[in-house]
Amino acid sequence: MKQITISAGHTRVSRGAVGLIDEWEEACRVRDEVARLTGAKVVVDNVTTTANANLTYLVRGHNATLRDVDVSIHFNASNGTTPQPIGVEVLYYSEAALAGRISAAIAEASGLRNRGAKDRKPLYFLRHTQRPAVLIEVCFVNSHEDVRLYRKHFAAICQAIAHTLQPKPALTTKATRLYHTHCQQLIEAGIASGAFLPVWRNRTISYSQFCELAVLAYFQPRER
Ligand SMILES: [Zn+2]
Repeated sequence: MKQITISAGHTRVSRGAVGLIDEWEEACRVRDEVARLTGAKVVVDNVTTTANANLTYLVRGHNATLRDVDVSIHFNASNGTTPQPIGVEVLYYSEAALAGRISAAIAEASGLRNRGAKDRKPLYFLRHTQRPAVLIEVCFVNSHEDVRLYRKHFAAICQAIAHTLQPKPALTTKATRLYHTHCQQLIEAGIASGAFLPVWRNRTISYSQFCELAVLAYFQPRER
């Protein structure tokens, strides 16, 4: 299980980009939902009043935690309000592959244009956090289409971030053996009692196919 430390860029006082939505407010919402889904530690800055002090505070907070990856949530802005879509991008220092996966997953989940992974070594957060780090620019606050997609797909976007940061753990050998024993017993009991459809009774689906189906059913995401 990957340990994650996450924070939102900026503060209540030094708010970042303001357009159709407010960067700081939305970054906090995404931060909290991703933390809820992943169990990530959250660094919150309710203290500083300037952009520079905020950066130092957040990085110090991240570096004080035990974790495998550092995540910063931001929203982007360009000049003027536009009806046009602009999209999601994820900035990195060394984690090009992870950044690319997160950007693609957000785009896939929301329909936001995928601007992809961007190398931004000079960024303070990426340069000074001591673990692999990504800075997610969820969408542009000045694009009507981006904001519409973000609002509509908020939950799916947060899930995409969470699942990319923390893929489902593989079963241990012991767990796999237990699982197979139970599957085998279930199949035999089902056949003996006539509970299965003919397709199962006749064993026209193999044991391994049955297990695959069972795993798929087990890992179907459930609505909370
Ligand atoms: Zn920002």
